[in-house]
Amino acid sequence: MLKEIRDRIAAAEAAAGRVPGAVQLIAVSKVQPAGRVEAVLAEGHRLFGENYVQETAAKWPAWRAQYPDVRVHMIGPLQTNKVKLAADLFDAIHTVDRPGLAEKLARLAQSRGASPELFVQVNTGAEPQKAGVLPDAADAFIADCRRMDLPLAGLMCIPPEGEDARPHFRMLARIAARNGLAGLSMGMSSDFEMAIAEGATHVRVGSAIFGARVYA
Ligand SMILES: *Cc1c(COP(=O)(O)O)cnc(C)c1O
Repeated sequence: MLKEIRDRIAAAEAAAGRVPGAVQLIAVSKVQPAGRVEAVLAEGHRLFGENYVQETAAKWPAWRAQYPDVRVHMIGPLQTNKVKLAADLFDAIHTVDRPGLAEKLARLAQSRGASPELFVQVNTGAEPQKAGVLPDAADAFIADCRRMDLPLAGLMCIPPEGEDARPHFRMLARIAARNGLAGLSMGMSSDFEMAIAEGATHVRVGSAIFGARVYA
């Protein structure tokens, strides 16, 4: 499954005239059985995505000890009281979406002299139940993050379910371009090729690599 996804990413890069290797594959391993993750590690894959701080704290320290070049990105909503733990566990956080969280990350970055790489999550569909800054508020929030010296790598979105994702990918790319941000975290199992055509630099693919998630 991993190889098939890698091949499809390479083909989508070529079709879009992107540089080979321009797109990073984040293998989303949340709630997957350990054996499936270990199989993907054994195949040489090293970049993973997780949604939950506690689950990551339970699973990843041992795998990091075994594979020192592993990187884990936080792609789920982050509670402010878990920022410290998250900064210990993750190499990047894709879900910076509110001033309180940005301020906490900034204070931590200052005291440690280091920070995970950060993406601002944009709620491109303006869905009430979804995390992310509203598109109209994105420019101001990005400017605020920069004033705090946060290391912004780019933007992230999760398009509304059951809608054509393309306008959302395009909106995210436009906001990134006008703010001089290079990173675009967009595209999942069902639409990562479209996201690559629209400029994704990071695709977050879970079930297409590991199989369906089984929630207890
Ligand atoms: C779970 C999740 C994914 C992966 O979803 P698949 O459909 O399994 O590829 C990607 N992004 C986010 C934010 C997720 O929560």
